[in-house]
Amino acid sequence: MSTFFENTQKIIQEAAEQGHIAERARAKMLIPDRVLEFQIDLTRDDGSIMHLPAWRVQHNNVLGPYKGGIRFHQDSNLDEVKALASLMTWKTSLCGLPFGGGKGAIRVDPRSLSKRELEEVSRSYVRAIYEYIGPQKDVPAPDVGSNAEIMDWMTDEYSRLAGTAEPAAFTGKSVQKGGSQGREVATGFGGYVVLREFLASTHREVNTSPTVAIQGFGNVGANIARLLAENGFRVIAISDSKGALFEEQGIDVPSVIDMKERTGIIERNKCYSLNSHEKMCLPLTNDQLLALDVDILIPAALENQITENNAGAVRARVVLEMANGPVTPGAEAMLTAWGIQVIPDILANGGGVAGSYFEWVQSQDQSYWPEQQVLEKIEKQMIETFRHVAGTREHYQTSWRLAAFIYALQRIAQKIS
Ligand code: NAD
Repeated sequence: MSTFFENTQKIIQEAAEQGHIAERARAKMLIPDRVLEFQIDLTRDDGSIMHLPAWRVQHNNVLGPYKGGIRFHQDSNLDEVKALASLMTWKTSLCGLPFGGGKGAIRVDPRSLSKRELEEVSRSYVRAIYEYIGPQKDVPAPDVGSNAEIMDWMTDEYSRLAGTAEPAAFTGKSVQKGGSQGREVATGFGGYVVLREFLASTHREVNTSPTVAIQGFGNVGANIARLLAENGFRVIAISDSKGALFEEQGIDVPSVIDMKERTGIIERNKCYSLNSHEKMCLPLTNDQLLALDVDILIPAALENQITENNAGAVRARVVLEMANGPVTPGAEAMLTAWGIQVIPDILANGGGVAGSYFEWVQSQDQSYWPEQQVLEKIEKQMIETFRHVAGTREHYQTSWRLAAFIYALQRIAQKIS
């Protein structure tokens, strides 16, 4: 099976071909500008030492400072970080933001660390890459396994080393520590806006109360679940790394979110039907969730979840890629052949980096915008982005993914040639 990075390269090559990108620009698009690979030595609470592999990949900064999250995950590897950094380049370009693309990761399960250990790892990461990052160089943010608290520690460490407060060095900070209102919900909100525009633009037969299954219930999955439930969609299945839950009448999403906020987990025996708190959700496996007969399937966990091995089981009408790279190219070809539309990651989850951009602006200006103002700006940005992709798709008579990449590549190619 091809790796995540190879899959990403393949899409770039295809989009470059269809979009008639000049050879000189293509060559620059395929290779990251810089790969930083290092190790963090963590002294654990019991005195033992843990060696954690870590990376920061700066893919392309033709449009502005590198931008992209830092993943904390036990399976992280360089191939994944390179693919994610590349996707950030195309996403920021597609969304019309003055950023390039980057990504970082630490190979660690953050749930296995104490709070002190987690803080030490976060601060060590910043010390290792300090000279390569900064508000006008490379602006990291949260990703899988990292959160606002980690960004607060990292911003503090960066500011300490710089000898001055540098809130614009990171985004995704807590609002108390200079973060933006709306950033926490930005990715889910952007995905909801894109889905709404997509459904309005296609004359597909989607029920009046479309059914939705969501894989992953972290920042992205939980926020889009809440927004869809509030806006007339019926969320019938959700999942996390421990498995999935199903309720045909619709899951009471707010109560699951509330429970997760209070306890940190989705308690299996406390997921109820929207219609009756007498009726409990049924357990499913993650594979069963992906195979549900729903209008909309939302992978919002990790890459390579729908592959040639399980694509044959997918029965959804639309796949909205809220995670990065959840559908492999081979799987997408199969889904497309059966008339299943795939809305690609760089479009679907672009609301996150749009929200980050608005945080970066506020941090530099020392200004404060209320949530409504931030969400209105994200909505406008995502509607515009969706229209650019729809127009490109129409022009090139191609898939949503290739249209998104062609548009993104062309914006960068103009600057290179
Ligand atoms: P998170 O760490 O907050 O949540 C990840 C969720 O996925 C958790 O609920 C976890 O239990 C679940 N999960 C992990 N492995 C799973 C599996 N095999 N099956 C089912 N669920 C599983 O991460 P997040 O920030 O919500 O990010 C999710 C995805 O969205 C990633 O691909 C990330 O790169 C992408 N993304 C995130 C943002 C953002 O702003 N956070 C922006 C753009 C894209």
